[in-house]
Amino acid sequence: MFAHLQPSAADPIMSLMEAYLRDDNPQKVNLGIGLYYDEQGNIPLMQAVRQAEQRLLTQGHPHGYPPIEGSAAFAAQVQRLLLGEEVSACGLATVQTVGGSGALKLAADFLRDYLSREEIWLSDPTWANHGAIFAGAGLQTHSYPYFDDIAGELRFEAMLECFNGLPAGAVVLLHPCCHNPTGTDLTPAQWRTVIEVMQQRRLLPLFDIAYQGFGDGLEQDAYALRAAHRAGLDCLIANSFSKNAALYGLRLGALTLCCGDAQTASNAQGALKTLIRRSYSCPPTHGGRIMETILTDDALRHLWRSELDAMRDRIRQMRLRLASGLEQGGSALDYRRIRDQRGMFSYTGLNPQQLETLRQRYAIYLVAPGRMCLPGLNLNNIDYVADAILAVSR
Ligand code: PMP
Repeated sequence: MFAHLQPSAADPIMSLMEAYLRDDNPQKVNLGIGLYYDEQGNIPLMQAVRQAEQRLLTQGHPHGYPPIEGSAAFAAQVQRLLLGEEVSACGLATVQTVGGSGALKLAADFLRDYLSREEIWLSDPTWANHGAIFAGAGLQTHSYPYFDDIAGELRFEAMLECFNGLPAGAVVLLHPCCHNPTGTDLTPAQWRTVIEVMQQRRLLPLFDIAYQGFGDGLEQDAYALRAAHRAGLDCLIANSFSKNAALYGLRLGALTLCCGDAQTASNAQGALKTLIRRSYSCPPTHGGRIMETILTDDALRHLWRSELDAMRDRIRQMRLRLASGLEQGGSALDYRRIRDQRGMFSYTGLNPQQLETLRQRYAIYLVAPGRMCLPGLNLNNIDYVADAILAVSR
């Protein structure tokens, strides 16, 4: 029955990680997969998460089934985090999902089965799994201009021109902050223009926010979401707690629909519940309980935010130090990109040949075409990386 199956193409980011793990060079540096590592090179267990888990353990929750949509208290906290402390739940439908990827897959099913959408527009470039998730759900994927890799700049005018030419109702996936893979974001003024175009052309934005807190801060990074919501734009928001609470393996995210009125939101919530029920029935409980505990307790919330601030500051320091190392060494590479881009990634402009040399000769691993995950840098390896980049990019 299964003998006709052929070997599958490996995921390029996961294969790179495996190659890194196999590499026995003691100086190897992992700047590939999008994970936050601390100064010691470890994935952190945040203190706020540890304390919330201790509290939950003391309370001793039995492992019953949660509601299909996850806990209502978790959903209310997600809405506050995305749309602001004062947001009214009226007109919003939020369900807990299996990570940010699960939120995107649920959004894809909803777009196809309940809104009869057959297409989606993704930024060029974008996170590789976007294409796979939407195509896998039966949507045709198109791209809109986003980043000019030669000039190292956002293609804002070309992007607007593309949006202006889309048919009414077209679905456009937008990264509200810390664009993956380019680290290049829109300014608030540019977001206002995009939102105006979305309204005029009656387009439907799907915001994918997987790095809230890693750009300028939790509030600042939600600018586009809040501006769209204030403008009364119907939209979908997929968010993830993988990175900003370091809950990667617990698979915690949410999908929120901004629907305008309470009845529509209740109908939308029903549609999402039907889709969840028929695919995996209900979400895992542990991650949702942790985040709900943190977000509903002032002290834990404060602790989480300050830990997240420290993670963001560390990445920023690594950016500045690497950029200044390249500048002082007279690198031909545009070091300003590394300095100015935001979030976990930098689109360095290193070419395939340079990436290969970095890997072969220096055991430094970046994702093609030139995406560097900055949290892999620390005070022990940053000068080694700067010297290696200088050597390959002279
Ligand atoms: N969207 C983007 C842009 C991402 O980079 C990621 C994670 N790499 C996700 C969504 C999915 O996040 P999760 O790991 O929570 O599924």
